Amino acid sequence: MVDKESILQKLPAVDRVMQEPIIKRLQEELPRSIVLTSIRNTIESYRAYIADHRGDKELLSLELTPLLIAKEAAENARENAGNSLKPVINATGVIIHTNLGRVPLCKTALNALTDVASGYSNLELLLETGKRGSRQMHLESLICELTGAEAAFVLNNNAAAVYIALNTFAAGKEIIVSRGQLVEIGGSFRIPEIISTGGVKLVEIGTTNKTYLSDYRDAITGETAAFLKVHTSNYHMVGFTATVDTSDLSELAREFALLLIEDLGSGVLFDLSRYGLPPEPLVQDSISSGADLVTFSGDKLLGGPQAGVVVGNKDLVSLIRSNQLARILRVDKFTVAALEATLQLYLDEDMAISDIPVWQMLTAGKEELKKRAKKIARNLADVFGNSSISVVEGMSKVGGGALPTVELPTSLVAINVNKEHFNVEKYTKKLRTGNPPVILRLKQNTMLIDPRTITVEQDKCLPDLLKNAFK
Ligand SMILES: *Cc1c(COP(=O)(O)O)cnc(C)c1O
Repeated sequence: MVDKESILQKLPAVDRVMQEPIIKRLQEELPRSIVLTSIRNTIESYRAYIADHRGDKELLSLELTPLLIAKEAAENARENAGNSLKPVINATGVIIHTNLGRVPLCKTALNALTDVASGYSNLELLLETGKRGSRQMHLESLICELTGAEAAFVLNNNAAAVYIALNTFAAGKEIIVSRGQLVEIGGSFRIPEIISTGGVKLVEIGTTNKTYLSDYRDAITGETAAFLKVHTSNYHMVGFTATVDTSDLSELAREFALLLIEDLGSGVLFDLSRYGLPPEPLVQDSISSGADLVTFSGDKLLGGPQAGVVVGNKDLVSLIRSNQLARILRVDKFTVAALEATLQLYLDEDMAISDIPVWQMLTAGKEELKKRAKKIARNLADVFGNSSISVVEGMSKVGGGALPTVELPTSLVAINVNKEHFNVEKYTKKLRTGNPPVILRLKQNTMLIDPRTITVEQDKCLPDLLKNAFK
């Protein structure tokens, strides 16, 4: 019979472990409280292990020296140190991945961000005169140039942009929206709820599939403030459908002195059909078709930081600017820096395509993707065995509620381990909790890696991460 108590007595005290040189060194790297917690947790896990295995002979061979506990505690502390929010490798092939932070920023945005964040900046200072300026001044003229709008205002996200537009112009009044456009966007952003939260009365018109100009006309009352047109960015309706063009709706709005607000979702600034993608409404087209205000996101197809942009008529934008909500929903300097740098690239379409990650990924060549998939597969063959690895044709997705019908042909590395003791769930968890975490696609028991959303630099470390997790 193995005596549990005598074994427990062998566990060193926390103070004793703290005296180990390896722990003294660790305290130069990590805060003392983290080191202490790690030692306590390590000792506690041994205590639990001993309790669970009482009576087992193997307990007698358990080494419980202060050095051993110190080593283990140091390893755990280092592993758990670091931030909760950290970079991950997105091997899913979903380009705008909301759970993974939507989209990576371009290099120039990152540089601008670091420059501005690491020191002071002229965020709200006019350098010429030394007078107070607005953080919006770094963005407004650029956005106007790109969209053809008279004025622009940037907020925390597009949900905020829609909300402030409704609140400023329609609070206590009615807004007319087509039933087919009462959509839900990810993260429980529902158009009807945003409207009611903004203190606006929603007047639904038309049917799910068809809304005509006459439906809008018939719904106008003395209480009507505006028409809201919402781009159904995350679903697509085919078949027996009818919607009203921005230009027709704008004419009707003018006739009755109403506003036309258009929520475009993604902020697309050039013709996508040039790149083999289905056309998306462009911000500049909505403006030139007569929308009074247009809102869009900074971090969907625009490929910048999280932000929401309202563009349109100068007087209207200035009323938004003076709404108290503008202060509540205002952007920080990091966003201003990253958005300005991203938008600069749009002054030259070729530059936007070649330098902004979302466009690099959307336009990545089929052959290039195949070459990269093959290379990753070769590097993995010796870990999993040749028969477990293959390169197969597949599809990447745009994600993030944009271009829902688009499937981008890609090449996937398929890993199908048929060993009895191999547990896919356990293995993918190990990958997810690794450093850096790897998120891949799972289809039944096959693990799929899509090179489209992986950077070329990550191609190199990915095989090692997969190898190490397999050990
Ligand atoms: C995504 C989206 C929003 C919300 O934009 P965020 O930037 O995520 O706040 C609003 N409207 C439409 C049509 C969208 O697609």
